[in-house]
Amino acid sequence: MRGIVINVQKGLYKVRPVNDGEDINCTLRGRLFKQSQTTKSMVVVGDYVEFQPVLGGRGVITAIEERKSKLVRKGAGKKGSHLEQVVAANVDQAILVFAVKNPKYRKNLIERYIVSAKYGGIEPVICFNKIDLINLSEVQEDIKECRKLGYTVLLTSTITGEGIKKLKSLLKDKISVFAGSSGVGKSSLVNAIFNEKKTKTNEVSTSHYKGKHTTTSSQVYELPFGGRIIDVPGMREFGVIDNGTGIRDAFPDIIELAKHCKFRDCNHINEPGCAVKEAIESGLLEERRYRNYLKLKKSG
Ligand code: GDP
Ligand code: ZN
Repeated sequence: MRGIVINVQKGLYKVRPVNDGEDINCTLRGRLFKQSQTTKSMVVVGDYVEFQPVLGGRGVITAIEERKSKLVRKGAGKKGSHLEQVVAANVDQAILVFAVKNPKYRKNLIERYIVSAKYGGIEPVICFNKIDLINLSEVQEDIKECRKLGYTVLLTSTITGEGIKKLKSLLKDKISVFAGSSGVGKSSLVNAIFNEKKTKTNEVSTSHYKGKHTTTSSQVYELPFGGRIIDVPGMREFGVIDNGTGIRDAFPDIIELAKHCKFRDCNHINEPGCAVKEAIESGLLEERRYRNYLKLKKSG
């Protein structure tokens, strides 16, 4: 049988069958168990697995499917550590939530979040929340820029309800994570999504989502209209992990410009014929964006 891992705790993997049926607590079969002792993130929430029911209401995971994407964070607390820890698998999209006021977003942070999402192969969706607090014209430029780079941009307010329908339609039938600094409105948005129909699952889901996390495992929540949200405790904010691919994907404009520099190994500092410098001077490329690109490249 095929299922998705919805919770991991002390060597027990809770698996939800893809074709209906009760959740079932599974252990790993011998060989997988041995491997899991060395690779902590061998099976994580969001992984699709093959499992077999065994006696006593339990199950055994016999195989793990290849991951489409991964949500990663930097190695457990070790300073300067570049080890990555996979905290969720097969996430389709990251709803990157920013507040247009209280506290107002910073563009550097938006870019940083995009790099992290792209790195894991997760599609970023940029959600500007609290739009009830400002005049839309104040953020129009930034919205345009995001859209020009190909990102889906949402404008939401959990007060007026604006944009919630659109958010729901984006979440439908996908696996999503919400990310963003504390106070931007992630919990409020999730609550707004669950609002109407209060099925049993919803009540559990919202209270869990809002509540203090007592476990370290990520958790999957079913959306009443189809789709899932994965909540990763302590990781609603990403940290950048740089191996170059995330940055390359998040800054296609700069990568493209660099191709037109006179020197192949141009550092874009003061070389003649530097297309990046020229773009900044002519106003085509924001200097702030270029500086942030350099900073992110260094910070891996
Ligand atoms: P989280 O830390 O990202 O989960 O943020 P919360 O959902 O806890 O929201 C933080 C604060 O922002 C709370 O006081 C909310 O009432 C408020 N808030 C959330 N969404 C909105 C919104 O759309 N408009 C306004 N004006 N306030 C909001
Ligand atoms: Zn250059």
